[in-house]
Amino acid sequence: DEEDAVEQMRPDTPVKPMTATEVKVNVSISSAAERAAATGADGVGLLRVEHMILSLGKTPEQFIEDNSTGEYIEALVDGVRTVADEFYPRPVRVRTLDAPTDEFRQLEGGESEPVEHNPMLGYRGIRRSLDTPETFKHELDAFRKLYELGYDNVELMLPLVNDAEDVLRAKRLMEEVGIDTNKRTWGAMIETPAAALSVEGIAEAGVDFVSFGTNDLVQYTLAIDRNNERVADRYDAMHPAVLDLIARTIEVCREHDVDTSICGQAGSDPEMVRYLVEEGITSISANIDAVRDVQHEVKRVEQRLLLESVR
Ligand code: PEP
Ligand code: MG
Repeated sequence: DEEDAVEQMRPDTPVKPMTATEVKVNVSISSAAERAAATGADGVGLLRVEHMILSLGKTPEQFIEDNSTGEYIEALVDGVRTVADEFYPRPVRVRTLDAPTDEFRQLEGGESEPVEHNPMLGYRGIRRSLDTPETFKHELDAFRKLYELGYDNVELMLPLVNDAEDVLRAKRLMEEVGIDTNKRTWGAMIETPAAALSVEGIAEAGVDFVSFGTNDLVQYTLAIDRNNERVADRYDAMHPAVLDLIARTIEVCREHDVDTSICGQAGSDPEMVRYLVEEGITSISANIDAVRDVQHEVKRVEQRLLLESVR
């Protein structure tokens, strides 16, 4: 009957509206790769590696202690491959490890983790990576291996940088393990007001892209703990101060020919999507279940802007 006929016409992958702004998807566990790819997203805007590593049950440093770094690298290569295969040749932006110390503490080797009053303001992301170059280089080895295997759709993204120096130090380590930073696509997250205000230097450090990690950028700009229910009603990604930092960053990046994207939760919010498209962001990455709506919202805004420009 008619319903069956409509069902048969429906393609496996939804028809995606053509937009100038790319719409990507966030992936936090490799097993979601197939579902994420089926959204028709233009790529993965954020692939988190924390699950791949934490599920091994050991801290990264414990692998070095145990002389089993091969296992660590292999878990990363396998986890990323699952997603990179599913999306190939669409790009997959892989963020280097960013777990706060309290998440490592329950793992084997976790007793050596520092006890911090404010783990989210503490030893995590690029800070930890630069402080433990031996461990970080094993992580970077996984990227090099992926490139050697032909995964030229893998991109590398640095979390929680504050300035050009963080980026340049990481870049040096990438080069030390044999990653050609001129050939590969890599970039930095903009998650702190300092990073947003230092974006000229970050752009000049050679990044191909920056990506707004609004989950953190909002908490650090407004000084509101993203995990504290008591102040949750004041946690507002659309706060003018946050929007100013974003708009300014996009403008500077445009001048430097650096792509801009968002991979925080706010990228799934239609109001933020409208703002970002109006500001001229290059790509938006949304949660799996929000991709479709974001694609259509982007299309609507682009059409409106086009009409306004010819009137
Ligand atoms: C963010 O801060 O917006 C982000 C994407 O990173 P995470 O949520 O993992 O801190
Ligand atoms: Mg973050």
